[in-house]
Amino acid sequence: MPFTPFHLGPGLLLKGGAPRGVSWSAFAVSQIVIDLEPLYYLMRGEAPLHRALHTLPGAALVGAVTVALCLAGRWALERRAGLGNRILALAERRSVLYGEITLSGVVWGATLGSFSHVLLDALLYDDVYLFWPWTRATPLLGMLSPAAVILGCVVTGALGLVWIGWRLIREQLSGGGRST
Ligand SMILES: [Zn+2]
Repeated sequence: MPFTPFHLGPGLLLKGGAPRGVSWSAFAVSQIVIDLEPLYYLMRGEAPLHRALHTLPGAALVGAVTVALCLAGRWALERRAGLGNRILALAERRSVLYGEITLSGVVWGATLGSFSHVLLDALLYDDVYLFWPWTRATPLLGMLSPAAVILGCVVTGALGLVWIGWRLIREQLSGGGRST
């Protein structure tokens, strides 16, 4: 299903657990990049909707493209003297924002985003072949019910939001800094 927001839930939990290590924006961008594929085939009315990008090699490619897009975004921000520099300066001071702009944060966010996406889709859709081009096996299909997958995404998202909020409040109370 193109652009389902449920995929973002696990990303919020990862961000809560490793605010400086994972870029949630990169995680989110990877969700959009990868689901351009089913959107394209949906608009053309051509089945199957999930093809080369919804595989493990495809996820690696999506991760690399996402890193390039995010680094291009950071480069564009750096070139904007006023607003861009203020955003980057703020990101340097807050641990939750800091992971958004570092290379390692972007790489981890993009990689975890694209691979978690295909793994979740592989639980739900019979046209997601993780190990293509080697095999069209669907070992994860049906392991969890669609309701369980969605519930898991909602719960991880809610927990992640609380965790991130708690970090922001704690940093605010301690006067900022990268203490976490
Ligand atoms: Zn998808």
